[in-house]
Amino acid sequence: MHDFAVVGVGPPGARFARRAAERGSDVVAFERGEVGKPLACSGHVSLDVWAYVPGDARERLHQNDVYGARFHAGGPGSDAHEFYYADRPVSNAVDRVELDRVLAGAAADAGADVRPGHTVTAVRERPDRVELDVRSAGGTETVEARMVAGCDGPRSRVRAELGLPNPDEFLHGVLAFDPEPDHDDFVDVHLTVPGFFAWRIPRGEAGVEYGLAATPDASGDVTARFDAFVEEYGVADRIEHRCSGLIPIGPPARVTTERGFLLGDAAGMTKPFTGGGILYGMTAADVAAETIDPTDPSTLAAFETGWRDELGTEIRLGRLLRRGYDAPRPIQELGMRLFSGEIGVHMDRPSTLFSREQLAALFGR
Ligand SMILES: Cc1cc2nc3c(=O)[nH]c(=O)nc-3n(C[C@H](O)[C@H](O)[C@H](O)COP(=O)(O)OP(=O)(O)OC[C@H]3O[C@@H](n4cnc5c(N)ncnc54)[C@H](O)[C@@H]3O)c2cc1C
Repeated sequence: MHDFAVVGVGPPGARFARRAAERGSDVVAFERGEVGKPLACSGHVSLDVWAYVPGDARERLHQNDVYGARFHAGGPGSDAHEFYYADRPVSNAVDRVELDRVLAGAAADAGADVRPGHTVTAVRERPDRVELDVRSAGGTETVEARMVAGCDGPRSRVRAELGLPNPDEFLHGVLAFDPEPDHDDFVDVHLTVPGFFAWRIPRGEAGVEYGLAATPDASGDVTARFDAFVEEYGVADRIEHRCSGLIPIGPPARVTTERGFLLGDAAGMTKPFTGGGILYGMTAADVAAETIDPTDPSTLAAFETGWRDELGTEIRLGRLLRRGYDAPRPIQELGMRLFSGEIGVHMDRPSTLFSREQLAALFGR
């Protein structure tokens, strides 16, 4: 019997598998396809990401340094309000497919048994173990573990099998790439989509990414909105590798059961104001590895409170920030005029809006 069965080898699944294996647990991790594919993510992350990546991989993953964002209340060509760090990058564009491969490789190096091409089709909780039905090219087998970690993304099968509630909301995201290299220092954010925004991310030699996310009900046809967006930018005939995915917003009240727990998108561990979930998922994965003892199910309670202590305030503040996306346009313009310029805010931590660095940046202009 394994200590942990991890379902899904995205960043949080790989990170948890690595950390738990390093602490001496017997970990098996199932990935239904190829690690990192299909891509449905911008891979736009704060510099904190490098703390999770083995040092020698950085050069391979890094695509571009981003120093700030140009916010627009309108579409391409509308007035831009710049928010930036003066002296260092705020964030990086990274190769997301390769990031997943590197993180999965680190889990395997730590001793986790990472198995691509294995789909978990059922999970049963027993008093003393969990049983997983796992389908692969070799047939279907039943695997036993003391605990199961559901790291299987927004449509989580594990969440459904364990009877855990869904995240509050799902946004529909679409993105595509213009292969023309672009080393610009700024991303563009367009507050033209109800409930969320559209974006343009320069990715260095990897080209430019155009994307958009929206609540499907509030904004009609997300694909049609995206088509109009790239048309406005004048790149409709150049973009390629179009892909899409769901972004869960708002974690459910409970992400643990007797012998199971959720991490990452399965648990809605994302930033409500950007949809980013790579770092929140890995942060929670570290809390899980530190708090959960596979031989003692009562330790799941410490994880349930521990990850919320770490991320709960940021998620709540992130929700408040997101409300600004639906403010009337004159209010948006005024807010952007007042606050634009140099900033001291960390892109994963809205609480830094009240930090000394941010106040110094605001009043030092
Ligand atoms: C359009 C878009 C843009 C985004 N941009 C960013 C960004 O710039 N920065 C950022 O931080 N976040 C971004 N995100 C969010 C980010 O992609 C997710 O938060 C992150 O991928 C969460 O990782 P995860 O492993 O929880 O889920 P996923 O990445 O979805 O991984 C889940 C894994 O589980 C596997 N799986 C699913 N079911 C099973 C099963 N039954 N058996 C075995 N394996 C299974 C899947 O194949 C997959 O590999 C974006 C999302 C979208 C949709």
